[in-house]
Amino acid sequence: MTDEQLWKAALGQLELKVSQGNFLTWFKSTKIQHRQGGKVVIETPSAFTFEWLSKKYKMPILETLQGLDASIINIDFTISSATARQRVLKKNFRVMAHKVAKKAPTEIIGEGNKPAVAPIADSQAQRLAKTLNPKYVFDTYVVGPSNEMAHAACRAVASKPGEAYNPLFIYGGVGLGKTHLLQAVGNEILKNTPSARVLYASSEKFINEFVQSIKERRTQAFKQYYREVDVLIIDDVQFMAGKGKTQEELFHTFNALHSQNIQVILSSDRSPRAIPTLEERLRSRLSGGMIADIKQPDYETRLAIISSKAEKLGSTIDDESLAYIAKNIQKNVRELEGALNRVIAHCELSNSKASLEYTKKILEGILEQSNQKTIDSKSVLEVVSLYYNMSLDDLCGKSRKKEIVRPRQIAMYLLRKENRVSFPTIGDYFGGRDHTTAMHACEKIEKLLEHDEELLQELNFIRERLYA
Ligand code: ADP
Ligand code: MG
Repeated sequence: MTDEQLWKAALGQLELKVSQGNFLTWFKSTKIQHRQGGKVVIETPSAFTFEWLSKKYKMPILETLQGLDASIINIDFTISSATARQRVLKKNFRVMAHKVAKKAPTEIIGEGNKPAVAPIADSQAQRLAKTLNPKYVFDTYVVGPSNEMAHAACRAVASKPGEAYNPLFIYGGVGLGKTHLLQAVGNEILKNTPSARVLYASSEKFINEFVQSIKERRTQAFKQYYREVDVLIIDDVQFMAGKGKTQEELFHTFNALHSQNIQVILSSDRSPRAIPTLEERLRSRLSGGMIADIKQPDYETRLAIISSKAEKLGSTIDDESLAYIAKNIQKNVRELEGALNRVIAHCELSNSKASLEYTKKILEGILEQSNQKTIDSKSVLEVVSLYYNMSLDDLCGKSRKKEIVRPRQIAMYLLRKENRVSFPTIGDYFGGRDHTTAMHACEKIEKLLEHDEELLQELNFIRERLYA
């Protein structure tokens, strides 16, 4: 048997052993790189498949191969060295094997003129740990092409906080798994180093506590709380847009932590570049480390996600129903989970077994809603102006400033695409502009969308809000 034949036969058997989603996600584009003695080396397309296969599927693969060729005694995995990016990741995964260096609490506490009191640090670690939801761990996070980069970066940071990438910035639309990933990093670090002080806070919490501390004249305590940590995680920083004072505080907090190599992790619903009114120096600080995005999951990943959720819930929902849900609920993972839960709940309540027919009936309402919902032109203008943090007057007005022209063109594009408004009418909405201006705007955005992924995400996000 040639290597190729052997692997083809093995895949044929493995396909029956794992779910379709997992099979497509993990085994696609793998091959036998070479064989040496009794050892087979399997080449994987990326660092994340490498990691996943070696961790989760080593035994099943080895057993399958042994069943086909008894002379095989061991297997190993390697990453295809095709691209530079993969090489970088590969390096990180090697590094990941090392345990997180345990930082003595006194090392940090003892700095400056504060007393070094280890027991306080310990109880603080426990208190801070409560800011994390223990259900958000790497084990339950399904990885696919849409989130592999973000996941790999988070893994690397979890294994070497402060060293791999600092800061780490994760962005992506609503319900795509940012909070889950961020907290998984925190939980993983705590698992490796229980005394680590991991502080997770939403931006809203950060803003509120900051404002409160000013009112009550205890900004010093606020600063201490956010700076005496080993890892700081701030979720949804887009909410800081326009909040000058809070941004300044975050900037100083960031500098204080970064200069001591303390890990900072941030998330946002869009790239730092696309957060208007984010102060330039903060923007450049946040962009200084690693930036990774999460996109909408493809069908295979969606299927893998709900299959694993269904399994965890002990549900016996049939494969056809799962496939139907994954095919039809595409927007984000939160809705996907919602649909699954709905089907499971209906089945339990009515004491019936899920079937494709039944699932279709249950989801009918939801699907119709999301497909048929129409939006009016006014909401398009409102959502766009809200998203880019500007007034409706500015959006529709005469200014030719770049920060305003871009959102205006996006609004025109959406009016055309989503509402099928005629070009002359669009011109009217924007202070009686000529219809050619509207046409030009739509062409421009269309052209940009061909290669600008960030813009695509911005648009998806605006659409999400429009139809929410
Ligand atoms: P975001 O913070 O981006 O809005 P969340 O992290 O809150 O999204 O995710 C929404 C829900 O979807 C959570 O229950 C989360 O566990 C789940 N989820 C998202 N992505 C994944 C994934 N890749 N694998 C498993 N569950 C996921
Ligand atoms: Mg979130």
